[in-house]
Amino acid sequence: MKFGTLAIHAGQSPDPTTGAIMTPVYQTSTFVQESPGRTKGNYDYARSANPTRTALEENLAALEGGRFGICFSSGCAAMAAMLHTLASGDHVVVCDDVYGGTFRLFDKIFAQLGIAYSIVDMCNMAQTKAAFTPKTKLVWIETPTNPMLKIIDIRAVVAIAKQHGALTLVDNTFATPYLQSPLELGADVACHSSTKYIGGHSDVIGGVLVVNDPALAEKLHYIQNAVGGVPGPWDCFLLLRSTKTLHVRVREHCKNAMTVAVYLENHPRIEKVYYPGLPSHPQHKLAAAQMRGFGGMISVVIKGGLPAATQFLERVKLFSLGESLGGVESLIEHPAIMTHATIPAEHREKLGIVDGLVRLSVGIEDVDDLVGDLDRALG
Ligand SMILES: *Cc1c(COP(=O)(O)O)cnc(C)c1O
Repeated sequence: MKFGTLAIHAGQSPDPTTGAIMTPVYQTSTFVQESPGRTKGNYDYARSANPTRTALEENLAALEGGRFGICFSSGCAAMAAMLHTLASGDHVVVCDDVYGGTFRLFDKIFAQLGIAYSIVDMCNMAQTKAAFTPKTKLVWIETPTNPMLKIIDIRAVVAIAKQHGALTLVDNTFATPYLQSPLELGADVACHSSTKYIGGHSDVIGGVLVVNDPALAEKLHYIQNAVGGVPGPWDCFLLLRSTKTLHVRVREHCKNAMTVAVYLENHPRIEKVYYPGLPSHPQHKLAAAQMRGFGGMISVVIKGGLPAATQFLERVKLFSLGESLGGVESLIEHPAIMTHATIPAEHREKLGIVDGLVRLSVGIEDVDDLVGDLDRALG
């Protein structure tokens, strides 16, 4: 079955007791057993498993083209669960332009538990190769990157990781499973903050890991239950409602973002536009080959630095000034002050996160109104 059909049907069948077409919110903490140890459908306690969550896990696994989905209460909880598969002394190679909270997990939480990491520019294969040590167990890719929207060649990095016997995780949050399939490209784990495009309506926090290897899935399920960062059934229900329209929404995000990117690239007050769909993007060809669309995220540098950027961000009306991304409504933010404040200033500068940099999450409003809003704010 193809994506749109899986989005609506995978993991979900009418409720066996009533025929309800929508998977119910199983708002329960425990399940009554018929006799000690004899459960109905392996449900005994809702941290271990809950039918609403099972439906979501099967749905997301299908969308990622994987066998096992393991859901968490946030993207950060999902990422932490993956890092809990490592042991003290292990080493991770991490791409240099990751989500701020991802960097914080490595730098502040897992470093003190003895998990070492190296940050590299994964657009540079020589630098990537050189970062491996005999202790490297995991490679952490985010592509497109945040907020510079660099594109990393998943196949090429997976090939290097395999030579070293390391697993590869791809944070697929920006691309969405509709536009990019990391597991098909050889990665071992696809990871999402489902708070973003998967949720799509800015009303739920969630995360997921999708894998093919049964042994890795078992390990992650064990950690999901043992550490306990599980999503509640209501959040799972909201996400199931969201995935039904993921393909429709993402198509509109891509269309609108392309129009906005072209508009911005031609505006005299804009110094630079980062959007993988523009031929001026340094990895445009790779993006076109690796992805099925270019997504809804754009970063721009405004001429005039912080004062100009601040004025622009105060003037927009339809674009709401806020962190997060991937919702149907357009958002705009200032990475250096907002989402990427946890990254040391000198590291930010090196990446290109300058004071004039503004990130846009282009929503699915009428694109004429979006361009009109930007035009007013820049004018
Ligand atoms: C938001 C985000 C995360 C963290 O997810 P939460 O749901 O906020 O915990 C991880 N990676 C990327 C790329 C994100 O945008």
